[in-house]
Amino acid sequence: MKVGFIGLGAMGRHMARHLQEAGHDMTVHDIRREAATPFLEAGADWADTPKGVALASEVILTSLPGPVDVEGVVLGPDGIADGITSGQVYLDLSTNSPVVTRRLHREMADRGVEMLDVPVSGGTVGAEAGTLSMLVGGDEELFNRMLPLLEQFGDKPFYCGPSGAGQVCKLVNNYISLSIQPLLAEAFTIGVKAGVDPVTIFEAVSRSTGNTPSMQRRYPTGLFKGNFAPGFTVNLGRKDLGLAIDLAKDFDVPVQYGPLSWKEYDETSKRDRGLLDTGAVALIQEERAGVEIRADIDAK
Ligand code: NAD
Repeated sequence: MKVGFIGLGAMGRHMARHLQEAGHDMTVHDIRREAATPFLEAGADWADTPKGVALASEVILTSLPGPVDVEGVVLGPDGIADGITSGQVYLDLSTNSPVVTRRLHREMADRGVEMLDVPVSGGTVGAEAGTLSMLVGGDEELFNRMLPLLEQFGDKPFYCGPSGAGQVCKLVNNYISLSIQPLLAEAFTIGVKAGVDPVTIFEAVSRSTGNTPSMQRRYPTGLFKGNFAPGFTVNLGRKDLGLAIDLAKDFDVPVQYGPLSWKEYDETSKRDRGLLDTGAVALIQEERAGVEIRADIDAK
């Protein structure tokens, strides 16, 4: 199949690699041309614009930072919409606003193009391993038709409902997983200042009801080692929490805890830590509490 891929970043480069390794004819594009080098060396074609990708492909995928980028790439000058025609399929893998997603879905439908929202979960580790969870919105028959392609770079495609439903589920998921991180940092600073070492707290919580994937994924190899290499950046976390809070406003849902967490991501970003992994939100709490949650878990 002729597959176009736009956005070869932390997530996209792995997903596109799986598709290329599956034998598809790839055309790729990114504003950072150097991101395409490994794909071109492996035989992919380069397109100078998203329009060029659309002209060359049967299925076009995007993995872009957020709504503004996706709208620009789809509807902007030389965008996908300028090159795509009836019968083609567009899949957006970005975490996007459901409102923007539904607008793009209508724009595509007007051109006879089918679209699914396919936000993914599982981080760069899941992307690299091909084990991403995929939360899919759009027409169910199209979902079933696209399953073989989706399963080439993720192993858990899950149909959530009509257009935008994948994004709603993804934002609900990230509202939970991102909001919990500042709380985790508070809990650990309490425990460490109260005299118990971080690894013992980690092992105790791992066996108990407070256990959470956010702690399992980000503490042993991240915070304990002071390693904040992304991963999933603070700026993207701030974007996702912001999108979920906007969705709450759109649907008149009062919220308290998400906005408190959002402030921690915003503050972390303002302190020049926006390109670090989201685990870096703990640094603010460490500074406030005057304690560092560092440990050599391997030595335990
Ligand atoms: P990233 O910033 O590493 O990658 C985005 C890529 O898009 C970059 O290569 C960038 O150069 C390119 N890009 C940006 N604007 C562009 C444009 N106008 N035209 C062409 N290319 C453009 O981000 P990422 O971490 O790969 O995340 C991508 C999406 O996946 C985001 O929506 C994010 O929220 C979501 N996501 C990320 C993770 C994670 O762990 N990193 C996990 C799940 C979902």
